[in-house]
Amino acid sequence: MPFNVLTAEMSHETNSFSLQETDEKAFRNRYVLMGAEAIAERGQANTELAGFLDADQAHNWDITHVLSAAAGPSGKVRGATFNWLCNPIISVITQHPFDGILLGLHGAMDLDFCEDGEGELLWRIRSEVGEEMPIAITLDPHANVSKKMCDLANIIVSFKTYPHIDMRDTGRHAGDILHRTMAGEIQPRTIFVSRPMLEEVNGGRTDIGPMIERIAKARAYEEKADVFAVSINAGFASADVARVGPTVLVTGQGDFTAHIAFAETIADDIWNRRFEVLNDYLSVLETAVIAATYDHSKGPLVIADYADNPGAGGYGDSTELLRALLKAGVTNACFGPMVDGKVAQELHAAVVGQRVHIALGGKTDPCFGGGPLAVEGELVSLSDGRFTGDGPMINGLSGCFGPTAVLRVGGIEILVVTIARQILDLQQFKAFGIDPQNKHVVALKSMQHFRAAFEPIAGQVIVCDSGALCTPRYNRLPYRNVPRPIFPLDPSES
Ligand SMILES: [Zn+2]
Repeated sequence: MPFNVLTAEMSHETNSFSLQETDEKAFRNRYVLMGAEAIAERGQANTELAGFLDADQAHNWDITHVLSAAAGPSGKVRGATFNWLCNPIISVITQHPFDGILLGLHGAMDLDFCEDGEGELLWRIRSEVGEEMPIAITLDPHANVSKKMCDLANIIVSFKTYPHIDMRDTGRHAGDILHRTMAGEIQPRTIFVSRPMLEEVNGGRTDIGPMIERIAKARAYEEKADVFAVSINAGFASADVARVGPTVLVTGQGDFTAHIAFAETIADDIWNRRFEVLNDYLSVLETAVIAATYDHSKGPLVIADYADNPGAGGYGDSTELLRALLKAGVTNACFGPMVDGKVAQELHAAVVGQRVHIALGGKTDPCFGGGPLAVEGELVSLSDGRFTGDGPMINGLSGCFGPTAVLRVGGIEILVVTIARQILDLQQFKAFGIDPQNKHVVALKSMQHFRAAFEPIAGQVIVCDSGALCTPRYNRLPYRNVPRPIFPLDPSES
């Protein structure tokens, strides 16, 4: 008899400081796909679900996929929205007997009634299925892992890359451990250790820096007979919650004293190297000076507007960097996205080629990243905002910015969009007629994910702190709920 496995994906990274509440519409703006529809959209791409299906194929399971749902990072998820997403999962669990449960989660979801969204979901499931049912989950390494999550899920496996490019492998890995558990071959549980920090100091980046060696050690420890997964989570600093911060997890059995000792060595390294910041965070003025004098012969200058990254809950409407680039007279440049649904709507009422005067961006919270920018420009193109990725992170997956326009102001083509999304794929410009490869300067809103697709075409990459909501200057944010003392907020920890 094949094993019956329930699968689902539910993902939200909650920025506690965002003024934007996360409701049903926010999920629908990203994706809410039920059963077969989710498999059709995500089942062959680089997703956790595709990895679950790989395990299904390899082990001949009988799979019931309930739903895949995600919203862009934003404020707390409303209780009613959370219930709306959980209820189909709980309903299927109560109607069918399953041998195991396999979930693709983020790990930093904060609800308006409970700060541990994943813990709450797992508790609701565990309450239905009892103690014996094996539950496996995958996490994004920007998870803020709680003890509750580790107590309720037997198996936890996080991605081992940032930029994240191993979602499918991670799904398969979790599925394979679940299979051995359902077969009675192993009895895993998951332990974790943490450090009093908002995040691993480089957000867990794995292209350069100390995380490369830590991941290698994790993989080596996974070779031991009683160890099934080692997960190193950088944590998510924009979460004002008790469980904030980096964690090291071991999913295994047998000698847990040894497993904990191993996890502590990795956590010690995260703590000891907390001052080794890899990025040089430039001011907007420093950035503009470099952009204005840049020699593009080796390829475009790629500027990451780190602080206004919609992928971490930034509003995407910060104007400070754009203001500085325009003032510096930068030419043959593109900038995106500028999230301003009102302006996008106004531009959709205009005619391509028309000159317009508008107040662009800066409307959500001018304290973080500047107020509206008065510009005069030419409307270059209009679009419904749809694109299909072709880079390492989202190849074959489609996404949507909502009503979108390209506006040329001075020497800069600005991608004005309605729905906030991080730039992590060349198609997020190309689909709208902007080819980043042909630009001298490419300014985009992202912290680290952009590197997967944009580093190969870049002559140089620089990182700018525009002072928007995801600024790495954490003392600008009103933390109230994180445990104190904590690095880097408290000098005693520095
Ligand atoms: Zn992440």
